[in-house]
Amino acid sequence: MSGQIKPINKLDVHKICSGQVVLNLATAVKELIENSLDAGATSVELRLKEFGKDSLEVTDNGAGIHPDNFEGLALKHHTSKIQDFADLSSVETFGFRGEALSSLCALSNVTVTTRHSSQECGTKLLFDHEGNIKFKVPIAKQVGTAVNLSNLFSSLPVRHKEFHRNLKKEFGKMIQVVTGYCLVATQVKMSCTNQTKSTNNVLLSTHGSNTVLENISCIYGSKQANSLLILKKVIPENDDNDMAYMFELDGYVSSCDHSSGRSSKDRQFYFINSRPCEPLKVVRAVNEVYHQYNQSQYPFVYLNITIARDEVDINVTPDKRQIFLSNENYLVSLVKASLNKLYENIPSTYKINTLL
Ligand code: ADP
Ligand code: MG
Repeated sequence: MSGQIKPINKLDVHKICSGQVVLNLATAVKELIENSLDAGATSVELRLKEFGKDSLEVTDNGAGIHPDNFEGLALKHHTSKIQDFADLSSVETFGFRGEALSSLCALSNVTVTTRHSSQECGTKLLFDHEGNIKFKVPIAKQVGTAVNLSNLFSSLPVRHKEFHRNLKKEFGKMIQVVTGYCLVATQVKMSCTNQTKSTNNVLLSTHGSNTVLENISCIYGSKQANSLLILKKVIPENDDNDMAYMFELDGYVSSCDHSSGRSSKDRQFYFINSRPCEPLKVVRAVNEVYHQYNQSQYPFVYLNITIARDEVDINVTPDKRQIFLSNENYLVSLVKASLNKLYENIPSTYKINTLL
């Protein structure tokens, strides 16, 4: 196979790379929700039709998109969030790579309806698979943005077939990811509905202006919320390591008695600086410690780890779910020590129901 070396045509490169940015239904939805939160929305509604097979739409009341930004909106590596590499160290937004909308255009049919706060009227924009505007019409709209995707993965035959074949499983993964954002976005009213031929189900809803605990209660009920313990950082005795002050832990976990645990890890949510993610070593450590006290179950976990920005690299994978941390092993030992302290001796002040 020593043919002539030639560049792959641009549209195919775009398709190949986009499939790595948007892996599945969950990443597609996650990217749209993050854009809404980055736009300062206080209300974010996700509506799916037929579990996302027909379409999905995220509507927000954020700042909207200015007409000057329409042309670049869905072009690869076009973003309003950073200008150069140096900006990465101070980025506060979920997005910064300018890849989501362009990738979604390559993988589905994208329509954006938006009205910027400076505009009297909204605009509906239809994009082609290269991220260029195919069609543009004025439309009455409140300030904010709605992004609609249909025929997700239609341009990747294998992924498209798998998505339809495993629709319910993909949908379940997506709900898990969306729940993380619902829990952490305490000032945002969020909802998720799924419409099928016969039903229109509200699957998740939070009220905004809540605490994390109230959000847990909105989603899983007050019984779950009331049964949790508060997790805080505990520095192990004899540990005079300066690193202990680099991390803060804030969380809620199940008590280790058998009436509080779960049969699976379906209610575990991890965040670094309030960014939902999967810090695998921390996840493993939490479950290992819990299993020392309760071998047959898994805990409910909401754990937000606060770390100085210059100790975290979020730019590891396009979906930013894997995060590079300096001193990760020390963090793991801190998490273990804090959990052990909690389960060894549960003082009444740690119990939620004494605080409510
Ligand atoms: P990124 O979020 O990394 O910048 P995206 O492709 O997700 O890249 O979005 C490109 C740009 O489109 C964003 O930088 C932002 O300016 C704009 N945008 C996308 N979604 C919204 C939204 N819901 N509200 C306002 N602006 C948006
Ligand atoms: Mg984005």
